[in-house]
Amino acid sequence: MNTIYDFTLEQLEEFVVDTLGLKKYRAKQIFSWLYKKRIVVFDAMSDVDHKTLDYLKQEFIIDPLILVKKQESKDGTIKYLFKLQDGALIETVLMSFSYGKSVCVTSQVGCNMGCKFCASGLLKKRRNLTAGEIVAQIMYVQRYLDETEERVSNIVVMGTGEPFDNYDHVMNFCRIVNHDLGLAIGARHITISTCGIVPKIRQFAKEKTQFNLAISLHAANDELRSELMPINRGYNLKELISALKEYSTLNNRRITFEYILLKDVNDSKDDAKQLAKLISGMNAYVNLIPYNAVSEHGYQGVSDIEALRFYDTLMKLNVKATLRARQGDDIDAACGQLRANYKNGEQT
Ligand code: SAH
Repeated sequence: MNTIYDFTLEQLEEFVVDTLGLKKYRAKQIFSWLYKKRIVVFDAMSDVDHKTLDYLKQEFIIDPLILVKKQESKDGTIKYLFKLQDGALIETVLMSFSYGKSVCVTSQVGCNMGCKFCASGLLKKRRNLTAGEIVAQIMYVQRYLDETEERVSNIVVMGTGEPFDNYDHVMNFCRIVNHDLGLAIGARHITISTCGIVPKIRQFAKEKTQFNLAISLHAANDELRSELMPINRGYNLKELISALKEYSTLNNRRITFEYILLKDVNDSKDDAKQLAKLISGMNAYVNLIPYNAVSEHGYQGVSDIEALRFYDTLMKLNVKATLRARQGDDIDAACGQLRANYKNGEQT
């Protein structure tokens, strides 16, 4: 059964008019029950008539997630492993920062992008998540935060999956959580991270939304990037940068480049120089990410000193960069790790 979280407000309005034969404003009522009052059973919608409730109960569920496992790190990071209605397992991570609570959501069951360093690709894509299955991850965490009157302030679509390989559902998800009558999370607080599916970047550029765009770069020359990230064989750096320039022109938004520092792979002074050259003149900054080692892949991260050295080289070349702190190191926090370990029977 599908979750009612699948509907954007516009879709729900169409549904209540066309299918339920109700007045359009009823959709706003239902939306408000779901996102403002955050109810989890239809019967709690006290101003919705019984006939409508019966129909909704027959056709939809609200929360499609079953909690399988919850891991809490010393630094406050919480990682959830959920089971979906068809038994598929997905992960969601809640991180606490000085600026608020950020949730990392999964967009696909497994991933087909095949990045060499990533745990998510260890399990091939089984299917896309629906918009509502992504919304449900945020709602689950928000209901938990409600207990202490806190709220999800930021969202990153950086969990398992390639969001631009599930474009329509991910965009609907963003619209629902961003909507004033939804969770009203500001568009500039929502970040979509892609490995670089160029046609979708161009499509996204034309939508002129305020959602943030992050690009997983990880290498600044085609040879290395194609080795690490097979997507680069389809869309090389020249095509990627050209699409990003189009995005910048149309949206006037800053782009984030994510760059995992892998020991002796992409961490040399020369790599930093190539990176600076590649993105020079762009409205962008580089987020240097510590690597969460994935035992199956054999790559290693760099030490804090080595990371600082790379950062320093970028600074000297006038590249804006940040060095991301490690989060949830003690709880399998790398994308897909918890799920992969669970599947392998290693119940961490
Ligand atoms: N497919 C999308 C979003 C999911 S990956 C993308 O490629 O952007 C989210 C980010 O985590 C990407 O930058 C990815 O390269 C990075 N990542 C993957 N495995 C990692 C690991 N083991 N340690 C640190 N970052 C990792």
